[in-house]
Formats: sequence, structure tokens, C-alpha cells
Amino acid sequence: MKLPWKQIISVLRRATGATEVPSVTKIAGDGPDPYRVLISTIISLRTRDEVTISASERLFSAADTPSAMLRLSSPAVADLIYPAGFYRTKADTILKISGILLEAHDGKVPSRLTDLLTLPGVGRKTANLTLGLAFGIPSICVDTHVHRIPNRAGWISTSNPEQTEDALMQILPEEFWIEINTLLVAFGKDTCTPVSPWCSRCPISNWCSRIGVSRHR
Ligand code: SF4
Repeated sequence: MKLPWKQIISVLRRATGATEVPSVTKIAGDGPDPYRVLISTIISLRTRDEVTISASERLFSAADTPSAMLRLSSPAVADLIYPAGFYRTKADTILKISGILLEAHDGKVPSRLTDLLTLPGVGRKTANLTLGLAFGIPSICVDTHVHRIPNRAGWISTSNPEQTEDALMQILPEEFWIEINTLLVAFGKDTCTPVSPWCSRCPISNWCSRIGVSRHR
């Protein structure tokens, strides 16, 4: 099936009102600082957007560079980002990343996927989000919504996020790679929910095969 991507993206933009990745870009500032983007993305894992934003703001008001971060202890970082999920582990990760950035990358966040993936706690999801938001490098961040919805719609047929990333890169025009995460996360929370999606009010139902959808509203 040849998909009218411009139309689908435009419908999703209108339906979700999503124009940015809230939890990360809201605290990343103008002309996003890659260090803030990376660290707030780490904080955002398994954490609600409101908590991510306030935790990041508290942390960056105390330290917003790798060298300043290393002057804080792990318990101090944990206190600042509490109640983000796994806040103690994330505090250790943030300090380890800061140390590696200083030792191996002149205190800067690298802009290559392979370099980002060597950092502790940084998987493809975090790395791709950082590349897209901090450096404007086209990349697709695949989380649970970005994996579920295109498979459910029948646009792709994959069994894990890495395959989904590859498959979407084959069919989705590059101009939408960064944005697709924002749109599908918002759409997946509001309409194409994991259990019993709202197909009756879905604005993209014309382009959906509802694969595996046994119950819907
Ligand atoms: S029609 Fe239903 S399953 Fe398909 S995208 Fe819309 S909400 Fe999701």
C-alpha cells in the first residue's frame, strides 16, 4: 500500500496538537543544548512528562554541564531528580556519562549514533531522540507507541523496535523521521491506545488495517 505520508502527518498534527517532544524540548532551551537534551532524555525514561520537566529543571539549576555535574554526589543528583523513576540508578548513570563526556569527548555530547551508544544507559531510543532533538539529524526514535501503531495499522510488520526503526526508515520520508515519535506518542496515549483503541473517532482509520485489534471503542 502506497501511503500518503504528507496527509497522514498533517492529520496527526491536527489531531494531537503535538508540535514538540514536551518532556525534553521544554527544558532543553532555545537552540537545544545537547547535554541538557541527553540528560533529560535519561530522566524521562519510565517517567511522566510533568515529573521529567520539573526534575530536569531542578537538576539543571544546580548543574548543567558535565564538569558542574561531577561536583555533585550521586545522592545529591538523586535528590534533585526525585521522584523520577529509578532516580538512584539514573543519578549514577548521569554522573558516569558526565565523566565519559569529559574524558573522551572534550565535555561535549557526540553527534554520532555509534558514539552515543557507547555511553552507559543510552540505548537506541535515547540516542535517536538526542540526535534528532539536539542536532537535528534525521533519526527515528522507536518507543512502545512507535512500534505498536505502524504494526497495528499494517504499514510495517516487525517484531522488535530495531526492526521497526529500519522498516520505518524504508517507507517514511526523511523529513518526518524526527517528528513521528512526538506524533505517535501523543496519538497512542489519546486514541490508538494499547488496549481497546478509539477506532470510532480515529482520524487515520482510512489507512489502518487494525491488525491484531480484537477489541475497540
Ligand atoms: S483505526 Fe483504531 S487501530 Fe487503527 S490507528 Fe486508528 S485507533 Fe489505532
